[in-house]
Amino acid sequence: MAYDPTNIFARIVRGEIPCVRVYEDADTLAFMDLMPQSEGHTLVIPKVAGENLFDTPPGSVAAAILSTQRVARAVKAAFSPPGLIVTQFNGPAAGQTVFHLHFHVIPVYSAGGLRLHAREKADAATLEAHAARIRAALEGGA
Ligand code: AMP
Repeated sequence: MAYDPTNIFARIVRGEIPCVRVYEDADTLAFMDLMPQSEGHTLVIPKVAGENLFDTPPGSVAAAILSTQRVARAVKAAFSPPGLIVTQFNGPAAGQTVFHLHFHVIPVYSAGGLRLHAREKADAATLEAHAARIRAALEGGA
């Protein structure tokens, strides 16, 4: 499949639609998942066009995984989950629904306690409150 520049994350990178931002640098952006599987579920993306892990330039993948580590540390500091999943899907058969490379940072509070993938929208105030906690952890050096 050719990269579709109108996908939702490409539009977020271009500032055409809003996101609840937690972190940004020259190469990457991190924001709250709109339909979180748990409190603090965050997405990290490279800014360059790339549908998945296979067709994104290696330097951009490297930048994204470094930001993922940084954001995961902050999510862990902010929410103190006993576990945390970092995951990434390639292709519809694997569960990918947005075709711009992204890493999920998903705190896990109890075994089997995750909500279903991309199902239930969280309200904006809740997402903003969670983002504020993650930003504070980042500013505090997490
Ligand atoms: P995937 O299935 O790995 O492609 O994941 C896409 C993720 O993007 C899902 O977890 C969705 O809940 C999330 N999502 C979809 N649209 C938005 C959006 N506008 N802002 C933030 N997250 C979104």
